Amino acid sequence: MLVKRGIAVSPGLAIGPALVLGADVFRIPERFVSVDAVDSELARLNLALDGACREIEQNERLAAEHLGEQYGAIFAAHLQLLRDPKLVAEIVDLVTHKHFSPEYAASFVLKRYARQLQNLGNKYLAERVHDLFDLERNLLRHLLGERRGELEHLTEPVIVLAHNLTPSETAKLNRNFVRAFATEVGGHTSHTAILAGALEIPAIVGLGTFLTDISGGETVIIDGDQGEVIIDPDAATLAEYHEAETTSRRKRAQLRSRGQGEAVTQDGVRIHVYGNIEFPEEAEHCRERAADGIGLYRTEFLYLGEHKERSEEEHYEAYCRVVKTVGDRPVVIRTLDLGADKVPGMLKHMFADAMNPELGLRSIRVCLQDLTLFRTQLRAILRAAVEGDVRVMFPLVSSLTEVRQARMILRDVVEDLEDQGVPFRRDVPVGIMVEVPSVAIRAEEFAREVDFFSIGTNDLIQYTLAADRSDPAVAKYYNSADPAILKLIRMVVTAASDARIPVTVCGQMSSDVKFVPLLIGLGLRHLSVTPQAVPVLKDVIRNLTITRAEEIAARVADFEVARDVESYLRGELKKISPDAGL
Ligand code: PEP
Ligand code: MG
Repeated sequence: MLVKRGIAVSPGLAIGPALVLGADVFRIPERFVSVDAVDSELARLNLALDGACREIEQNERLAAEHLGEQYGAIFAAHLQLLRDPKLVAEIVDLVTHKHFSPEYAASFVLKRYARQLQNLGNKYLAERVHDLFDLERNLLRHLLGERRGELEHLTEPVIVLAHNLTPSETAKLNRNFVRAFATEVGGHTSHTAILAGALEIPAIVGLGTFLTDISGGETVIIDGDQGEVIIDPDAATLAEYHEAETTSRRKRAQLRSRGQGEAVTQDGVRIHVYGNIEFPEEAEHCRERAADGIGLYRTEFLYLGEHKERSEEEHYEAYCRVVKTVGDRPVVIRTLDLGADKVPGMLKHMFADAMNPELGLRSIRVCLQDLTLFRTQLRAILRAAVEGDVRVMFPLVSSLTEVRQARMILRDVVEDLEDQGVPFRRDVPVGIMVEVPSVAIRAEEFAREVDFFSIGTNDLIQYTLAADRSDPAVAKYYNSADPAILKLIRMVVTAASDARIPVTVCGQMSSDVKFVPLLIGLGLRHLSVTPQAVPVLKDVIRNLTITRAEEIAARVADFEVARDVESYLRGELKKISPDAGL
């Protein structure tokens, strides 16, 4: 039984067979073969061994010719290994007598050798482990051939274990079969993590290297509440988690039924709880949970995985679907936040040379550069606004000039629609994301030019603390509880209140319930969260008084380090709503 801890990014428990996607996206389709298939499977293994050896011979020749004999020798050693009768006999034996599939048997044997080498305590030999992994990949490639699995063609429930999943890959995960996923890389607020929340499947990221120990097919437990992955659990652990899975499902259902109606504190103050969505169909999840509307619609997901431009009609239809689903409740449509880790195929050229994509061409900067893209979207938003309470929001604003330029283009679009006699709404409120420190620092000035603020803590944290939100290597530097972040939030809330404009927190910080009393104590009355967090937030709010929340905020102001803030907030949450942590 192997237990790994990572960053819990989407709650819930799931148990199922592992589907491993390594860096090379290999999937071992089955662990065992039937007895009567053993001969044909052995023949397949022999063909694959021949194919792999031929490929290595070719590499040996190429390396020797172009780089020199000593480089060719690397592949000669690989060849020797793969032709080693003992190694081949071990694989054959597992297929013949244990009925392992050739893929699983090959992976099992090569991984075992790798582990033994690693454990010898000799640095030089430990380095050779990579040669064994290379051989494994090579052999698997030949074995899997056309059987190489595609995530999109799943037919059985699985737990996806991957080195990494891009946001596009995550967006395409089939919820009917993928029960949960866990990745070696990724951070708390990476878009992959956010998408896991959207798909409402348990997920853990930033686990560090662990796939080398797994072949696929093993039973895996994903504990998305505690951030734990358990591979090959023993019988007692498995039974314990089966029971916990049932309890957790029951508690969530209870919370959900209590989650209807408005969220009002015990001293009668209404707190608006909205949902964050990426796909139009999620609007239904928000409606089911009686969210107060959509506080953040990340429209760039219309583009991900696509290789073509989206037409105005495609935008319009998606927006109308969301607006109609939530009725008269507000829908904040955020203009395209493309770039960084959200790069659609057709725009790859724009970002190809970015040295540091998080600080590069991203978001509103892309829209202000590609005006056709921007205007198409703005037209669709203004047209969809006829159907309900639509608001438009610009992401990643860093200067007043950008706000003014974006508003100017919006005015142009209004004129065009008017000239063309197309039905639209002209008085759509215009807001900005506060997610770059320059805006938080000058919130007072920005507040004079917009109708609302929405604090994007995911980016605000990464840009304030200089810690990439997707990089587990710096996860310890990335912290919502850092006093600098709390100070910036305080400044933005004060500026908004002075200017009498509404302010929401739509970053993941507000989906983390321990922060909710603090945020309310800091003066926030609007929170936008991942849809599955709506019921638990309402529960916390209904157990809270504004006086208590303000006391919490005042106490937090005394703490000098994030760790103290977090442990204090955890303790307070337990007192306010013992069930909230689930
Ligand atoms: C944020 O940065 O907090 C935010 C909500 O935007 P995104 O996560 O889409 O970057
Ligand atoms: Mg952001």
